[in-house]
Amino acid sequence: HYRCRSAFKLLEIDDKLCVLRPGLSVLDCGAAPGAWSQVAVERVNALGTDPSVPMGFVLGVDLLRISPLEGAVFLSETDIADPSTLRAIQSLLPLGKADVILSDMAPNATGIKELDHQKLINLCLGLLDISQSILKPKGTMLCKFWDGSEARLLQNRLKEQFQDVRTIKPQASRKDSAESYYLARLYRGK
Ligand code: SAM
Repeated sequence: HYRCRSAFKLLEIDDKLCVLRPGLSVLDCGAAPGAWSQVAVERVNALGTDPSVPMGFVLGVDLLRISPLEGAVFLSETDIADPSTLRAIQSLLPLGKADVILSDMAPNATGIKELDHQKLINLCLGLLDISQSILKPKGTMLCKFWDGSEARLLQNRLKEQFQDVRTIKPQASRKDSAESYYLARLYRGK
């Protein structure tokens, strides 16, 4: 029932590393068509399906249109890199803050590996900038990157701001050899 096979990557990461749990507020960047948001809605109990645990919240953002999903709020046709997007996100998140920022964003690939790599690293660095305004202390950021010369730079920036940073290569990603994720936990905040 997932909108896209990418759901299995998040399920695999979450089963192993417990990123999502009932009651958390999640910002899902690059959310279209919505499979990660489906997983997040289930795991944070955004629909209140289980009344015995806290109810979470899911906000998805994408350049593309995202079909409505019960339990999630979407900012469609929205560029995460646009300066006005931060305010829109803050106004939709409960108390303006997220416990978890997910990014499965990917720029339109040009086919020039180094260029695509740099574009995606820049998207992640931009997201790290806005996380200063929206991520709660001790929060988590999970972001996709394509391997290449600047990956270390992103990793180092994450290490400055999070106590625990690891690289993850889900089984479900194995076909796409250049794709990995950084899981950064325990945000130091300001
Ligand atoms: N995780 C999604 C799912 O499970 O349904 C799949 C995400 S897809 C691999 C990558 C998405 O990133 C695309 O839908 C693309 O439009 C989005 N994206 C790329 N650059 C973006 C940006 N600057 N702002 C918002 N979304 C962006």
